Amino acid sequence: MIDQVIDELKNYDGRPVKIMEVCGTHTSSIFKNGIRSMISPKIQLISGPGCPVCVTPSAYIDKLTEYSLKENHCVLTFGDMMKVKGSKMTLTEAKAAGGKVKILYSPLMAVAEAEQNREIQYIFAAVGFETTVPVYALLLEEIRQKKLNNLKLMTSLKTIVPALSFICENEKNIDGFLSPGHVSVITGSKAYRELADRYRKPFVIAGFEGEHILAAIYEIMTQIKKQRFEVKNMYASAVTEEGNQKAAAFIKEYFEAADGFWRGIGIIEGSALRLKEEYGAYDAESAEEETKEDMPIGCKCTDVILGRINPSDCPLFKTVCNPLHAVGPCMVSPEGSCGIWYQNS
Ligand code: SF4
Repeated sequence: MIDQVIDELKNYDGRPVKIMEVCGTHTSSIFKNGIRSMISPKIQLISGPGCPVCVTPSAYIDKLTEYSLKENHCVLTFGDMMKVKGSKMTLTEAKAAGGKVKILYSPLMAVAEAEQNREIQYIFAAVGFETTVPVYALLLEEIRQKKLNNLKLMTSLKTIVPALSFICENEKNIDGFLSPGHVSVITGSKAYRELADRYRKPFVIAGFEGEHILAAIYEIMTQIKKQRFEVKNMYASAVTEEGNQKAAAFIKEYFEAADGFWRGIGIIEGSALRLKEEYGAYDAESAEEETKEDMPIGCKCTDVILGRINPSDCPLFKTVCNPLHAVGPCMVSPEGSCGIWYQNS
């Protein structure tokens, strides 16, 4: 069966087709499994906006660095945020300048940290998409139960469906979407139904093995050929129609939708999750602000995130921009398209 799929995809000779894989894990897997070598060059696979660190505004990084340099304050973050540039500096640079920044491997480690050092005000950098938000809700639950008043969240939380809607609206030449597997576990396959109907594009949810991705590409191509534009869940072992309702309810308890600022794109309506007003005591001034953007000169991350170009089309790719000297945010994170292309091409 898989041989037949590869054979058909390899020999496709129709009009050029552009398929966006939304999440970085799919981008990595496409490289690791040599998927491009198994399909026709007329089927172009492009990356999308599925790296939360890449789309976090520089104003957010600026606030974190300010907190780190404030007396009796300490910023808690995951490692991939350390090298993202704000308008002035990165968290790594802030730390070198005397700022207090600590890398955590799990949000819940923040609780132990705050319990042990009550005199320090901790600011947790809560960045992510739907996949990680339930863990932040759990963290808030812990903070409340333990009555910790020295641990707050500064959020930059985004939801992927409004971003896909923005892309469908503005980037008309994308023919189909490989929907993100992990996010879909939370949202369920129903989240893409309206987009598929409104924009007449296939949305196919796939797992992360090479065969899963090939089968999903085949499904997208079949739908395009037959002029069908549907949501198809090909990752049924993890994704249901309704999604993880328990996690969704947990998110709803603490967070509400708001307009979100995506670095390189701007404001996307309803694309952020912010802490509800009643939990303001745990919020470290994390309201999404409209920011004048802020991509470094010459950096093409906007075009990369919106699927207009591949990272290798950026003149700075591998010349002056690399993971040790990242010019733009897409090169910093392991989930960023430029970083993945650098490691694998
Ligand atoms: Fe930006 Fe570097 Fe990617 Fe070019 S290669 S788009 S400069 S991150």
